[in-house]
Amino acid sequence: MCEFCNVDVNKRVKNISDENDEMQLNKASQLEVAAGWQHGFTYAEFNIKYCPMCGRGLG
Ligand SMILES: [Zn+2]
Repeated sequence: MCEFCNVDVNKRVKNISDENDEMQLNKASQLEVAAGWQHGFTYAEFNIKYCPMCGRGLG
């Protein structure tokens, strides 16, 4: 199990750039991406079945 699909949902946050962009996996296996703090904020949610980091099946 990688850090991103940790059992503790509060630790499922990963920085994906040097500008505090981050993605987070919530309890419902939804991937939340928050990016663009410096250039206009972007937020998106995706339903995912596999961990984007290690490919482990979720749910
Ligand atoms: Zn993983």
